[in-house]
Amino acid sequence: MSDSPGTSDYRSPEGLRILLWDIDGTLMRSHRRDAYKDYTVPVLENVFGTAGRLREMTVSGMTDLQIIMEALRDEGFTPEQIRERVEDLRTHYMTEMERATREGSQGFHLLPGVRDVLEATSQHPRYLNSLLTGNIEPAARLKMQLVGLAEFFQLPGAFGDDSHDRRDLPQLAVERINRHLNLSLPPQQFIVIGDTPNDILCARHGHMHAVAVNTGRMYSREDLLAHTPDAFLPDLSDVELVLRTFDSL
Ligand SMILES: [Mg+2]
Repeated sequence: MSDSPGTSDYRSPEGLRILLWDIDGTLMRSHRRDAYKDYTVPVLENVFGTAGRLREMTVSGMTDLQIIMEALRDEGFTPEQIRERVEDLRTHYMTEMERATREGSQGFHLLPGVRDVLEATSQHPRYLNSLLTGNIEPAARLKMQLVGLAEFFQLPGAFGDDSHDRRDLPQLAVERINRHLNLSLPPQQFIVIGDTPNDILCARHGHMHAVAVNTGRMYSREDLLAHTPDAFLPDLSDVELVLRTFDSL
């Protein structure tokens, strides 16, 4: 364990747990299934001249870069060519998301219990909240603002513009958060919370704990349990139960 971060009232580093929250299907949902296509199709058309097969795709638990690579695979774009355009993609995403939000087609709602759980964990000395999501970072931040949760996510996190492979994200989150806190917390002190098998798999890959929540559109309780998360929650509505679950990890 490294030095203390220099603030006198800081919790002991060994007792800390970092909660890495997925966004879609875990903290919030769009009112309509596939609403993200309203802004992602024009982004791809602007940046690459085509949205490929995005309109036909069903995605869940994928990073935005991975979605784009999948969508454009048959159009002759290599992963390298797509990665080279990340800056452009970020800019166009924000333009299109803001347009879609202004036009009112992008409705989001918080899932049950989310605000209460975040209020409880943010006041609890054992926990720090951060994001680990397939959304590109500016889109993730915008969504958090739109649903009024931005205040809970001041720490750096890991995002869908970091990699096409969600399994790369835990290590990035560990590095960034440790640098930010001036600590060297091991991955075992991080808890990934998400609604898809990919969340569980990326936690495993990163040697983190995984808590599955069954509030996504795509996966059943059985689908999630088949990937043996450390804990399973039907939703986040029972704040006591959620805290007890985190406390056991
Ligand atoms: Mg999700």
